[in-house]
Amino acid sequence: MTASGGAPTGSAVVAADAAGIAHAAEALRSGRLVAFPTETVYGLGADATNDTAVAEIYAVKGRPDFNPLIVHIPDADTAADYAKITPLGRLLMDAFWPGPLSIVLPRRADCRLSRLVSAGLDTVALRAPAHDVGQALLRASDLPVAAPSANRSGRMSPTQAGHVAASLPGPDQGGPAVILDAGACTVGLESTVVDATGDQAVILRPGGLSREDIEAALGGSYGPVADAHEIGPGGPRSPGMLARHYAPAKPLRLNAETAEDGEALLGFGPDAPGATLNLSAAGNTTEAAANLFTMLHDLDAGPAPAIAVMPIPDRGLGRAINDRLIRAARTEDDE
Ligand code: AMP
Ligand code: MG
Repeated sequence: MTASGGAPTGSAVVAADAAGIAHAAEALRSGRLVAFPTETVYGLGADATNDTAVAEIYAVKGRPDFNPLIVHIPDADTAADYAKITPLGRLLMDAFWPGPLSIVLPRRADCRLSRLVSAGLDTVALRAPAHDVGQALLRASDLPVAAPSANRSGRMSPTQAGHVAASLPGPDQGGPAVILDAGACTVGLESTVVDATGDQAVILRPGGLSREDIEAALGGSYGPVADAHEIGPGGPRSPGMLARHYAPAKPLRLNAETAEDGEALLGFGPDAPGATLNLSAAGNTTEAAANLFTMLHDLDAGPAPAIAVMPIPDRGLGRAINDRLIRAARTEDDE
């Protein structure tokens, strides 16, 4: 349904013509969320270099945890701006991009992408979508766009603009500023996610591109394609193994009111005396999510030998933050 086709008042749905795409690109550039079609499903996009915009994705979807997000780029050349292109990754890009394949690669050290898109990992999943509108939006915005499926967490992925409008809040309630309507998606299945950080392709999530197609393209030169569950601990991290997400190397103490000797204090809220850094002086959980991984990295690199974190309320993105902190506070032995 397009705006001219009688969308409800307040709907963000617009036709994906040149004006709609320009409007959506501008919204992305100003830090707003935009739902857009790809060949797989409709994505909920944000400027992947903007911590706050990326945090809004998690907030709008109501995700209970920080699963890493796929970053959409126009082509393989752009990938080198953000990731180290392994030989296996290069081969997969050449064979399948643009298309329904997301490739997990090591982040470049000077990477401009928000750490939140990687959920603190030192890898990033990149994909070049094969859809005229998705491509046009990426080029018009000139941004890498982080985009999971444009639905509330736990609901079905949207394959039409109307599904997005029905699932997410309107633009005045924090939902996407624009929903670009280009009809139904052709693939209708999420992209296949492949880890290409090493020299074996590991399927982290099955999707729109089959294992057989990947094997045929590799022609045996990288050994058999594996599924993440066949690899086990120590292998590439699958979505189901996210308990092993980024944790600081230093001991982490939760629910701290003040710092003890040798601790840097990560604060939250207006009342955080002695905090080394503050996730959100305003007590805003979305702002705290935007800062979480960068601040943990900074404290891990700082002079204090240990890190203490003040209590984060279990509301809004606070639940996902606490989920992540509890995992990070566990020692290796607990995992
Ligand atoms: P969605 O955003 O819902 O399409 O899901 C994206 C999928 O890609 C999830 O299963 C993530 O766990 C996976 N993913 C994204 N980035 C990474 C990464 N850096 N490492 C491993 N898996 C990833
Ligand atoms: Mg999804």
